[in-house]
Amino acid sequence: MLMLPRDLIRNCAAAYPCKAAYHCGNISRTWQEMDARSDKLAAGLQSMGVAKGDAVAILSHECVEIYEHFMACMKIGAVRVGVNWRYPPAELSHVLHDSGARVLLVQASCVHLLGPLRHELESADIRLVGYAGAHGLACDYDALVNQDVAPTLPALDADDPLLFTYTSGTTGKPKGVVITNGSVSNTIFQSIVGRGLRTDDVFYMAGQSSWMTVIMLVLGLGNGMTHVIPDGDFDVASYLLDVERFRVTAASLVPTMMRRAIQEQRANPRDTSSLRVISYGSAPATPGLIRDAYETFGCEMLQAYGMTEAGWVTHLTEADHRYALAHEPELLGSAGRVGVTYELTVRDEQGNVVPAGQRGEIWIRGQGVMKGYLNLPTQTAEVMRGDWLCTNDIGRVDSRGYLYLLDRKKFLIITGAVNVFPAMVEAVLSQHPAVADVAVFGVPHPEWGEAVVAVVQRRLEEPAAADATDLLAFCQQRLSKPECPKAFVFMPEIPKASTGKTNKLLLKQQVLAKPEQFPWVISET
Ligand code: ATP
Ligand code: MG
Repeated sequence: MLMLPRDLIRNCAAAYPCKAAYHCGNISRTWQEMDARSDKLAAGLQSMGVAKGDAVAILSHECVEIYEHFMACMKIGAVRVGVNWRYPPAELSHVLHDSGARVLLVQASCVHLLGPLRHELESADIRLVGYAGAHGLACDYDALVNQDVAPTLPALDADDPLLFTYTSGTTGKPKGVVITNGSVSNTIFQSIVGRGLRTDDVFYMAGQSSWMTVIMLVLGLGNGMTHVIPDGDFDVASYLLDVERFRVTAASLVPTMMRRAIQEQRANPRDTSSLRVISYGSAPATPGLIRDAYETFGCEMLQAYGMTEAGWVTHLTEADHRYALAHEPELLGSAGRVGVTYELTVRDEQGNVVPAGQRGEIWIRGQGVMKGYLNLPTQTAEVMRGDWLCTNDIGRVDSRGYLYLLDRKKFLIITGAVNVFPAMVEAVLSQHPAVADVAVFGVPHPEWGEAVVAVVQRRLEEPAAADATDLLAFCQQRLSKPECPKAFVFMPEIPKASTGKTNKLLLKQQVLAKPEQFPWVISET
């Protein structure tokens, strides 16, 4: 029998009753408290008419109530929907309607984000529950969790949905992904094994709970460890302070956050000696960044590769990192080997598996793979081939099983009939000492079809020259002619989406729409 997430809550409360499950600023909750409070909230939600299969959304900055709510949903078979407070009103409205949410929990500091939508929701009979000081809404969170009633536990199956969670929107509009109870249990155990997490770990996760990251924020259900979550929103100074204060042993950051944390630690050092391991993933990290992190924090490193549609599928372990640094530096460019509950293959355009070492699209199947996109049958049919998920990621797997990611299929640039993967050009340019960040994409070109353009953020403190001529010469020594950018655009800071990823589509639109603000420096001769 597969343990469902709700069984894990009971088991953690029984095995580690007084052990901290969450620390968030000045609030701490034990596993027993999480069980008891989520029980009360579950009963409260049922008293409002929420039944198995109903969606219950939450609009909130990071706080411990998010996990009480997630666990309450686990117990009564409701579907948890995390609404990103950074969404513009149209996106907010889309997510609430698309998910069919019947109840929306709103933190006081987020009520204003609803704006005119509030009346629309109320008249559509979507019940609003306020907490952390939010008054004047239909229900009050504290009143719900203060009732002394137990929830009724409906029969639950591994196939019942537990999450509607939205993709990052890196290649288009965010898509709702249906994630089942079984899939969440799989991701919990696969991630604990893949990351080597232990019961005595104090685990800091920086990501936002509106993404599928929320599963990383309940990994403790699988081993009873303690989570530290940002109080409000992530910033590097409070992250380092939390590491020092709670003696964090394992942290997980996306590469952008890791870069900022390194800078902050160098400028304002904290005691981070408790750190045993830092894991990174979600977006490409350069070997230079990994080495910088080693030097600054002196702990082990670990990489995870995954996606909303499948969970975390591969890991480049701590041992792999050690081996790579001592014997095989290229291995740092790998995303690691596939977890035991997944199968990963590389396929050609016709869907045939290619031999080891050859590049193609990555297809994945296993317990973590989604059932489909919510309300998007066409997009679902585009990516699902039976139980295989076509990831849109291009990569190769070597004969030992190490995955090397090249880029996303959708980002491929075809210039003069030659395929160029922007990630390869970015990897080279980011090795230049004066380059702090870089994003490469293709723009329409009358002669080549598309031309390669690089947007570069210079490293302010670096005296080395980095004009278009220098950068082109640097590329010419390391890349083929078609891969070398035809133009450079310099920006003081490359904007990041709330996931920490570069939204290249937006950046491209911005650069194309405002040539006077972002002048192109033509590098071709
Ligand atoms: P959308 O699907 O809406 O365009 P997205 O793909 O960025 O957005 P996520 O599901 O959050 O949404 O991200 C998964 C993707 O992130 C993967 O398909 C892959 O392209 C990238 N990714 C994840 N982990 C890594 C990693 N370790 N290294 C490089 N890229 C990664
Ligand atoms: Mg995606």
